[in-house]
Amino acid sequence: MTARRGSVVLVGGGPGDPELLTVGAVRALAAADVVLYDRLAPYDLLDELAPGAELIDVGKRPGHHPIAQEEIERILVERALGGARVVRFKGGDPFVFGRGGEEVEACRRAGVPVRVIPGVTSAVAVPAASGVPVTHRGISRMFTVVSGHAPLSAAELEHLAQLGGTIVVLMGVTNLPSIAAGLLRSGMNARTGVAIIERGCSAAQRTTIADLADIRAVAERAGVASPAVIVIGEVVRLAQQGDAAAAAMLADVGSTGGAP
Ligand code: SAH
Repeated sequence: MTARRGSVVLVGGGPGDPELLTVGAVRALAAADVVLYDRLAPYDLLDELAPGAELIDVGKRPGHHPIAQEEIERILVERALGGARVVRFKGGDPFVFGRGGEEVEACRRAGVPVRVIPGVTSAVAVPAASGVPVTHRGISRMFTVVSGHAPLSAAELEHLAQLGGTIVVLMGVTNLPSIAAGLLRSGMNARTGVAIIERGCSAAQRTTIADLADIRAVAERAGVASPAVIVIGEVVRLAQQGDAAAAAMLADVGSTGGAP
């Protein structure tokens, strides 16, 4: 008898609501022997979705790095070489600021078969959960997704300000003051709408809206915290009906919504 050949599947878990898992994600979890999961992925249901699998929390919170990236890659490879079907379960989409590319490379280097199942990215789904479409006919015909983890350069801010489309910032809470100031300096209209959606697609979702000129003060007063998606652009005006209306709009997707 030959030993079973192990493998790694990178699975995008979506923005947190289990209703936004793909069919492929559910199938991969059901077949998993080992699941390495992130804090941002919808891990509450892993016992149910991956019954019998060994669950390893490799989540990172801002400022804390419980397990280094190299160590995650080492575990993925080691377990797969040992014959396990390994799922790397990540928040949103694995290739949107998810270090998915590095994990694919690590598997390839080690000769481990690797597959990727894309996920619903928070960059699009979290604004939607707050009633903000990232594009809208006549208002915005592009959206740019940018990491706010490190400060943006003056050139980047200028380009963004001049694009005239929607700007979606992930990991941007800490650098929000410098991003807002930089966009204003680069000539963006001070009355451009900004929405900050915290803990999107969860029961604890909260949306804070203000004009670009005021968002820093308003966010500070509200005590806005990570994880949050920041949307900058005229499309934010479309959200004025509030979180409750947006949640009702998305509700029929899932079991909570009931039949129409
Ligand atoms: N790969 C992920 C993004 C990873 S970067 C994706 O495609 O969604 C992590 C950042 O994503 C967080 O700092 C936050 O900006 C955003 N994010 C992810 N899930 C979120 C959620 N449920 N609510 C608000 N922001 C979220």
